[in-house]
Amino acid sequence: MNRENFSNHIPLKNIEITDPFWLEKTELVRKEVIPYQYKALHDRIPDAERSYAIENFVKAGETVRRLKNGEEVPVYPADKWHYDDNNAAPEAFHGWVFQDSDVYKWLEAVSYSLLNYSDKELESKAKAVIDLVCSAQLDNGYLDTLYVINNRDEIFSNLKDFHELYCFGHMAEAAVAFYDATGERKLLDAACRFADLICKTFGENGIKGYPGHEIAEMALVKLYNFTGERRYLDAAKFFIDERGKKPYYYDIVLGKETVNDNYHYNQAHCEPRKQNEAVGHAVRGVYLYSGMADVAKLFNDDELYHACEKIMDNIMNKKMYVTGGIGATVDGEAFSFDYDLPNDLAYSETCASIGLIFFARRMLEIKPVARVADTVERALYNTVLSGMAQDGKSFFYVNPLEVLPEASQKDSRKRHVKPVRQKWFGCACCPPNLARLISSIGEYCYTENENMLYVHQFIGSRVKAENADLVIKSSYVQNGKISIEINPKKRFTFAVRIPSWCNKFNFSVPSEIKDGYAYFEICDECIIDCDFGTEVKMIKCSNRVRANTDKIAVTRGPFVYCVEEADNGKNLQMLKISKNPNFRIFENEIIADGFREKECETLYSDWREPELEKAEIKLIPYYLWGNRGENEMSVYIRI
Ligand SMILES: [Zn+2]
Repeated sequence: MNRENFSNHIPLKNIEITDPFWLEKTELVRKEVIPYQYKALHDRIPDAERSYAIENFVKAGETVRRLKNGEEVPVYPADKWHYDDNNAAPEAFHGWVFQDSDVYKWLEAVSYSLLNYSDKELESKAKAVIDLVCSAQLDNGYLDTLYVINNRDEIFSNLKDFHELYCFGHMAEAAVAFYDATGERKLLDAACRFADLICKTFGENGIKGYPGHEIAEMALVKLYNFTGERRYLDAAKFFIDERGKKPYYYDIVLGKETVNDNYHYNQAHCEPRKQNEAVGHAVRGVYLYSGMADVAKLFNDDELYHACEKIMDNIMNKKMYVTGGIGATVDGEAFSFDYDLPNDLAYSETCASIGLIFFARRMLEIKPVARVADTVERALYNTVLSGMAQDGKSFFYVNPLEVLPEASQKDSRKRHVKPVRQKWFGCACCPPNLARLISSIGEYCYTENENMLYVHQFIGSRVKAENADLVIKSSYVQNGKISIEINPKKRFTFAVRIPSWCNKFNFSVPSEIKDGYAYFEICDECIIDCDFGTEVKMIKCSNRVRANTDKIAVTRGPFVYCVEEADNGKNLQMLKISKNPNFRIFENEIIADGFREKECETLYSDWREPELEKAEIKLIPYYLWGNRGENEMSVYIRI
């Protein structure tokens, strides 16, 4: 690692988003997603699966009150991942073990939204939720409603399967965001009390365990960055150092002998420093890798950084869909083996792509690598945006690249692939994660240090950076053009990513091109006009990916396109795109020349040249699919 490359993202406070494309999304989050989620957390949506999230905090608050009064408090089992009226007493905890985190993610999204748009009513709703959250905290700082309600004596007894440290992580992230947005410390103080308990409980002289679902690592770093309390940073490093050590902590707890390399699902099969491949549950993975990158940077830890580099390369080169989706298999919601990227069985969880963006941002802060910034773009404009309906009222958890609604209904292997977005999920990790990412989108666009300011993503905004004030006007998504007005505060080097899909670019000011970035020496006020165009491209996938041989994907600028039944009729597999498709671009669609192969009902017959009739193939951006009811969809098309 070269410390000279180190940079930081620009705080959200200093970024005002003005981009019409992104403002529409952040406004959807503010006006639709946040209020809807508030209702969902309170179980006020009649036909949605119950969340129990707020209800659990009410129950836990009552438990804490009774404990303080010295009253007898009942004990219930804390031994399952999900609790409902069929397997739990009415007064016991309900919902998923990680249910608290949905409340925290909502609070985090609200915080970012308040930074962009002051809203007193929303702020007071959030404060009421924070009061409720804090009422559920035990005197020693512990806060996880499952154990507070059900069994205080079993706290931290099953780190592998239960989510106390995960919920802590989301609590800390929400706490920092809310304090940053409003100056209110109540949640931050509560999160620090919980963090202090964790620092006291875990360590060389305490529990030598680590989270089964990672996030505490990066959350503790965030808490350290914010408070300056060194013990939080040390705790993050401790969790990374202990993970995967043999004998496995998880085996020791169970009284088992460590026999082989277990725990890939939790990325605990070996020590993070020795990991070189993305494995296991994809969201857990990218959250761990984010924490590893944070710790690598703050401890100047080359070994840990090189592990992060290898893992990022493995994802980008062998385990990522063209849409930026990761975690190819439903089996464990996990990374599959190299080049195993099935289209119709894809898992590609929205949260996993969000986590990939977290990981990428941290890697960019260690070293600007254009391909990594390209990966942020790929995930953001395709899988992440696809996660939310155009009206902000329904969501995808799974983001397939090929859908046949009949298969989703009749084939149990594809039951996870939904042909339309769902209103809410009992396990609702993705919608609030989307809300917090979209409302903090500015954090992923820029990094800077004393000498350099990088633009990684092109989102219209006003930016107050250390080196300069910027006014960025972007019609990147329409025509690939960006105009950047720079008012320098001193002499510095300005760098602009050149998107990997762009072969012909133009800058209005001379630049030096190096490793995917254009570099400009800035000493005076200036305007740099960038033109990347938005050429329509046909993208080939490695032939190691079996599902995509003799097929192409169409992209334009940052967007991957797809075909839908609503435009092209049933049996999308019959479509073949011409080698010279004469792409015609309209606002939100591309028309291409192609053919439709004549249907053949005979299951087997002698081979002969297929009969083709000419067809116009209509493509729409992938993120817009599934907005016109149930229908077939495919990203890859035969050529
Ligand atoms: Zn999710």
